[in-house]
Amino acid sequence: MVLFERAPAKINLSLNVLGKRDDGFHEVEMIMTAIDLMDRIALYPLAENRIEVSADNQYVPNDERNLAYKAALAFKDKYHINKGVRIEIEKNIPVSAGLGGGSSDAAAVLRGLDRMWSVNASPQELAALGESIGSDVPFCVYSTTALATGHGEKIRELPPPPSCYVILAKPNIGVSTRGVFQKVSIKELSHPNTNEIIKAIEANDFIKLCKNIGNALENITFCLHPNVKRIKEKMVQAGANGVVMSGSGPTIVGLVEHYSKAKRIYNGLRGFCEEVYIVRLLDHR
Ligand code: ATP
Repeated sequence: MVLFERAPAKINLSLNVLGKRDDGFHEVEMIMTAIDLMDRIALYPLAENRIEVSADNQYVPNDERNLAYKAALAFKDKYHINKGVRIEIEKNIPVSAGLGGGSSDAAAVLRGLDRMWSVNASPQELAALGESIGSDVPFCVYSTTALATGHGEKIRELPPPPSCYVILAKPNIGVSTRGVFQKVSIKELSHPNTNEIIKAIEANDFIKLCKNIGNALENITFCLHPNVKRIKEKMVQAGANGVVMSGSGPTIVGLVEHYSKAKRIYNGLRGFCEEVYIVRLLDHR
């Protein structure tokens, strides 16, 4: 029987880089929250012991390079499953956008296969399994609001942020996360104050949240792609209460309280930037 899973995108309310570790990873501190822009995953059991994957997007590989494929392989290995699955991905999350689409697909496959093969693994176990697939996969297993530390794999769940509308503006370029991290020089970064953001979330204080959101990678991506900086400036001028880049970009995120303002900003940005969306935070109360 076919089984469906939702794979929501994430946005960063903050991304801080604390240092570089001996294993080559950077030590980060990120506050992420899931949004209601999502891929849809269908899982079909196969009689044969093999994994098939297909996505309806030219930028996503239909083979073992797909993160959803890697997730299925890791799950089968870990739980010694000798059955097969066909994974079909309806891609709605822009690719290489800083919105964690591939990681979310992988996490959805872990959750879905857990149900399909009645393994009953805990979210913690699935998150630990997800670590080997990608740094954002553990967060995506939960897809709520969380502080992620380490190289992104240590998850502490937080309450939902104040309710608001989220405008996403993505120019037609993909940003290489690795390329951005290679240019990190800790002293030159501007570091967001993670604790103040957590306090704002806990106090349900939208204005304080908007004042504190920030991303230490912004200036690096802005140097590589000056039009991303211009989109941020445009979103600020248009009156978004809080504006921040998600992940290593290029998506710029604007937070506003009211739909009428979100719509005005959306209309203003549409002629300026290829992809613009208005979405909401994913409700996880
Ligand atoms: P990251 O910061 O990890 O690069 P991102 O959100 O910016 O994440 P993704 O859309 O997750 O970017 O994908 C980045 C790369 O991963 C692309 O090169 C894409 O071809 C590859 N990829 C592999 N599997 C998937 C998938 N299921 N969905 C999207 N991209 C995938």
